[in-house]
Amino acid sequence: MARGRRQKKDPFVCPRCGTRVAEPVKTWTLVSPLPDKYGRITITVMGSFVCPNCGYKWRAVLKKIKEGGTPPREAPQQEKEEGEIIEIDLSDLDSVDLEEPPE
Ligand SMILES: [Zn+2]
Repeated sequence: MARGRRQKKDPFVCPRCGTRVAEPVKTWTLVSPLPDKYGRITITVMGSFVCPNCGYKWRAVLKKIKEGGTPPREAPQQEKEEGEIIEIDLSDLDSVDLEEPPE
């Protein structure tokens, strides 16, 4: 990109036409996988925007949060064992042959 970044842009402002959007269409967070040297995790809040004026879509960092830095109340190792939560609809089980019956 050849455009300079002399001033910090407002992430809510359309980069194409300059319309200010009231709120992002969607927000999500990106959690840094590694803590910094103070043991803090950086959580980046992202937002996706759609300009109501020209239809331009863009994504921007809304804010960054430093989480932690104080002694953890819970052992973080225990949480790491948790994987993704997979929801199973019980009706799905009827069509699946369970090789290992539950105790
Ligand atoms: Zn626009």
